[in-house]
Amino acid sequence: MMQNTELHHEVQSSVSKVECYICGKGLADGYSITAKTLSSTIVLFCDVHYSMQ
Ligand SMILES: [Zn+2]
Repeated sequence: MMQNTELHHEVQSSVSKVECYICGKGLADGYSITAKTLSSTIVLFCDVHYSMQ
């Protein structure tokens, strides 16, 4: 019997707020937020701090 196993990685539940990991600025503050994967962890950065990486 075939059995399909679907793995779901629910990232959305762990990232409830879209704001910079460093300064805490978010979309509501007029910043563009970019996600970056560091050590298998998704981290969000604003324009300023993303360019500093
Ligand atoms: Zn920032």
